[in-house]
Amino acid sequence: MIKTIKRFFRKGELDCQDVADLSSAYIENDLKDSKRSAIQNHLSKCGPCQAFVDTLSSTIGLLSRLPGINPPSALKQSLRDRMRRGN
Ligand SMILES: [Zn+2]
Repeated sequence: MIKTIKRFFRKGELDCQDVADLSSAYIENDLKDSKRSAIQNHLSKCGPCQAFVDTLSSTIGLLSRLPGINPPSALKQSLRDRMRRGN
């Protein structure tokens, strides 16, 4: 509930946690334009998130070039955990 209120007052701005949560969908182009530009807005101001999304997208890109292999969600999770520890 408090999180919802905070979100309301931030007027749609995302924090690092939101970006981490949405990063897979962002990379896979699975977001509405408004969410997408909110993420891009955050990335333009936040180095750690930029690095995180870069790493995640190149990892996913690398894996998706191999036939029949999907990026395991455990891998995504471990990247997220690494980023959280860095904060
Ligand atoms: Zn961030």
